[in-house]
Amino acid sequence: MQYVNSLLDLIGNTPLLKLSTSLGPELQVEKYGEPKGPLLLAKVEYLNPGGSVKDRIATRMIEAAEASGELQPGGTIVEPTSGNTGVGLAMVAQEKGYKCIFVCPDKVSEDKRNVLKAYGAEVVVCPTAVPPEHPDSYYNVSDRLASQPGAWKPNQYANPHNPRSHYETTGPEIWAQTEGKITHFVAGVGTGGTISGIGRYLKEQNPDIQVIGADPAGSVYSGGDGRPYLVEGVGEDFWPDTYDKSVADRIIEVSDADSFAFTRRLAREEALLVGGSAGMAAFAAKKLAIELAEEGRDDAVIVVLLPDSGRGYLTKVFSDSWLGQYGFATESNADAETTVGD
Ligand code: PMP
Repeated sequence: MQYVNSLLDLIGNTPLLKLSTSLGPELQVEKYGEPKGPLLLAKVEYLNPGGSVKDRIATRMIEAAEASGELQPGGTIVEPTSGNTGVGLAMVAQEKGYKCIFVCPDKVSEDKRNVLKAYGAEVVVCPTAVPPEHPDSYYNVSDRLASQPGAWKPNQYANPHNPRSHYETTGPEIWAQTEGKITHFVAGVGTGGTISGIGRYLKEQNPDIQVIGADPAGSVYSGGDGRPYLVEGVGEDFWPDTYDKSVADRIIEVSDADSFAFTRRLAREEALLVGGSAGMAAFAAKKLAIELAEEGRDDAVIVVLLPDSGRGYLTKVFSDSWLGQYGFATESNADAETTVGD
């Protein structure tokens, strides 16, 4: 019989999927057969049991805290999270008998908050429109909750086990899956754990591998001042400790409009229902693939990491009225309005 004893055994070993149709006429990649130009492969992280890449860091951070004694039996995990890290932590916590309290900014979709509650966690919602030093900011609220007895805050923005989980699992998986042929790695940057851990591992295997961050316009990684953007889970208004500045060779800035349009394209043309940060990273990867094709780099093997599923964004990225409200065009918006009776 083939089965696992714990859901935690299902984390990682996610597949690579070749992108084709969504790359459009610029690249003309056939769905089947040998690629004629750069190969663009997506690491499909929504296939983790909690639905995102964050299952990896949740396991690693909790196991490390248990080992160091910071997290004791019956303890409470308190974390400011936009949802995915919460799901990962809630899943691991349930398996191991811990309580969870999550602190989210109010821009996080209701769908995501409900998922956390479904796992049995408690959710505290804080305003986005206050600076990080404000007492109501989600960083400060979580600090207060984490100072209670028995509480432990993983702090994904400073916990070295966040990038380390990627150095130890995601990086080696990508290297093995591409048989060492990967030439470029692209990922969105939030805490920076993904890009720093994977990027460092890949560069240690082959220093010629180029590591490219994708970042929402307005975020600090692409030179912004932290002005608001709508794509969730990526971009920051400060520099987290988990981001290793020496790893990325380049940052590609992507607008909300391009991120959302490409997220919808991935769903319609590749049947890949992913979140906006995945669309953002894939848009940057496509841009890179076009540049490489123009340079004649037909041997390029680009891997882009898609962090989560689109299920958590059905009332946002996948809603015509939500996109329309912010003035973003959608393919379907064009024929969504019909005037009868003229
Ligand atoms: N996409 C989503 C949806 C996320 O939740 C996160 C994590 N904040 C990221 C991308 C970025 O990953 P990292 O924090 O490892 O940079």
